[in-house]
Order: sequence, then C-alpha cells, then structure tokens
Amino acid sequence: MNKTVTIKNNFTILPEVEEYLNPDYIYFPLDENVKIIPEIGDTIYKEDPVLKFGEKTIFSPVSGKIIGKINTLVINNQTTPCLAIENDFREKIKNKKGCVKYINEYSQTELYDIISTYCPFLAEINYAKKNIIINGIDSDPFEKTYSTIINKYCSKLLETIDAIVTTFNISTTIFTISNHDSNNVTNLTNNIGTYPNIKLKLISESYPISKEELLAPTVLNKKQLAEGYIFLNIDDILNLYNALKRRRPIIEKYITISGDAIETGKVIKTKIGVSLNDIIKNCCNIKSQKYHIVKNGLLAGTTLLTANTPLTNDIDSIFLNSECSTSEKKCINCGLCNEKCPVGLNPKYIKEHKRADRSKCINCGLCTYICPSKINFKPFLGGKNE
Ligand code: SF4
Ligand code: SF4
Repeated sequence: MNKTVTIKNNFTILPEVEEYLNPDYIYFPLDENVKIIPEIGDTIYKEDPVLKFGEKTIFSPVSGKIIGKINTLVINNQTTPCLAIENDFREKIKNKKGCVKYINEYSQTELYDIISTYCPFLAEINYAKKNIIINGIDSDPFEKTYSTIINKYCSKLLETIDAIVTTFNISTTIFTISNHDSNNVTNLTNNIGTYPNIKLKLISESYPISKEELLAPTVLNKKQLAEGYIFLNIDDILNLYNALKRRRPIIEKYITISGDAIETGKVIKTKIGVSLNDIIKNCCNIKSQKYHIVKNGLLAGTTLLTANTPLTNDIDSIFLNSECSTSEKKCINCGLCNEKCPVGLNPKYIKEHKRADRSKCINCGLCTYICPSKINFKPFLGGKNE
C-alpha cells in the first residue's frame, strides 16, 4: 500500500479569481524544430496559428504584432530564444465557424480531429481504453488551481467528460476530488445525477495522492488497471470543453500564486506566454523583496533563478517565498525520508549511491520536505517524470 502524508497548509487563497489578460508582450519558446508561421512584422489576430512543430500548432493568445526572436528569456533556468508578440489590446479574432453539433454528437474521428487541432498535446493519448480517471485534486497541497476550475466550470466539465466517454465508448469513468474540497463536493454531487456514467470518488486529502502512480491503483481495481486507462487532469477537460464547444485553442490558463512573500494568495486567469515577471508585478502585493520563486508546488516544485520566464501550459502555480537561511545539517539517521517515501525508496541511500535505482521516484519532494536536517534530495533523484 502506498503511503501518503497530511500536510498542514497555512496559506490563504482568495476565493475570487483575478484576471490578468492584458500583458504588453507574449513570449513563446523556440527550438530548432519549431517553424514560425507568420513573418516578422506581421499583424496577427488572436487565436491565429503562430508556431508549428511537427503536426502541432501553437496559437496566439493576443492580437498584435510579431516582433521577432529575442534571447533574454529563461526557461527551466536556461536562456532560451523566444518569439515575442506585442499585444495591441484589441483582442481581434478572425471570423470562425461556430460549433454545429452538441458536443456528445461527434463521431470518434470528428472528436479526435478537433482535439488534434485545438489541444494537440491531448491528441497523443490513446482514447481506445476502457477506463478513464479525471483528476480534480491539486497536485500540491498549497495550490488551488484545479479546485478553482471545478468550482467555476462544474457543469461544463461534466458535460465534456460525458461527451468524451460516450464518444470513445469508455466503460468506467472516475472523477476524483479531495474530500476536503467541500464546495466542490456539494457542487458535483448536485450536478452529477444527470451523468450516470461518471462516478465521483472522494479521496482523503493527503500528499502526493494526485500523482497518477498513486491515484490509479487507489481508484481502479486490478482488472481495470490491466485493461489500461486514460488519465486526464481537470485543466485538460477545460481545454477540451473550449475546443469542442468554442473551437478555441489553448491560449489561457489558471494558476495559483501564493507564498509567504506576498500579501494574499490567489488564483489568476491569464494568457499562455505572459512573462512571470509581469504576473508578479501586476498581480502580487509583495511583502518582502527578498524572495525566491518556485514553480509547480512547494513540495515537488523547481526553484527558478529568474521570473523572466514565459508562462507555459505545464505551469500550475508559482510561489514567492522569503529566503530561508536554514542550511542543510548532518543526517541524524532518523529514517523518516525512507519511512515516508510513497513508493518505498530510500532517498538517503540514493543520495549516497550514484548507481542506486531511482527509476520509481515520482518526484513528489516529500523526502526533502520531511527531513529534519533540511537535506535537499532533489538533485539526486531524477525519476522518470523529470
Ligand atoms: S524519493 Fe522520490 S518518490 Fe520518494 S519521497 Fe523522495 S521525491 Fe518522493
Ligand atoms: S530524513 Fe533526513 S535526517 Fe532523517 S534519515 Fe533521512 S536524510 Fe537523515
């Protein structure tokens, strides 16, 4: 049985969502396989295609002017060339065809084509599976991104899940949320009756239960695991809703901003490609100028060397935390890191033995969080998710 831990959360997140949808510039990372579709200097509409890599297309979240390639942004702590688009704040969209069918009336081919066009990363999923898990549990105990999305879009999300499972003939659909997420438990319980195919599963709030490696064996039986399953997070479902209902590509997203260096935590709706610097400047009341930035959770997240980095679709949270002067101390051999590792690894052994098998590590960061000597295991792990 996998182990999980209850984490005390001292941060408050405001219930209202704040919008930051008017950045001056949008930046998209470029690599050698990416083709820029418009010419430098061109004026583009919002939702126009801007980049192509392989079959996948990236769309512009603003209308404006293609400025060109710049080399001052940093992604994953490495300077990365980016395409800059200057926002003209008109939000102009080309006329596009409206949705002609109810979202549960598409054929499998039609549905797959829409997913490939508007949510290309979700087109890599094999939808010919019997089971699906929809994860509505935030991946970090200090995030509120997923619970906010469920709160705002409850019935739309259910409608989309129903359309996907009906079209792809999926037999078991499990929608997981935290049992502490009381608003959403009520919300979903009140709405789910119309969708007998969808089973709501309340999961005891503990970390890192939302990781696929732990959640799947918790909610599916052995036979279902052997049959195979699709695993989607709730923001994927929102993106699918926008694609199916509005033919809208992924151009916006919700993220949690929190940490002890800002007045109050909040969830913001913003555009993909906005610089984290601009988000911090425009959406945060900074209490302490001496802070470090962590993306994607306080436990499993990565410390960023700079906020001069564009918001990519894989970022669900940023935390601004005051600099902590506590340095690593000597291991006291308490055994906690080993005892609490949810997949049964011995992080202390892994740190001390280069060749130790770390392939099962799910990068949850629990060992670093739990260690009384403040030992940082992250550089020594590097499991399959890294
Ligand atoms: S070794 Fe990996 S899986 Fe185990 S607690 Fe540390 S980060 Fe989590
Ligand atoms: S939790 Fe920290 S102090 Fe305890 S055994 Fe592991 S490394 Fe040593």
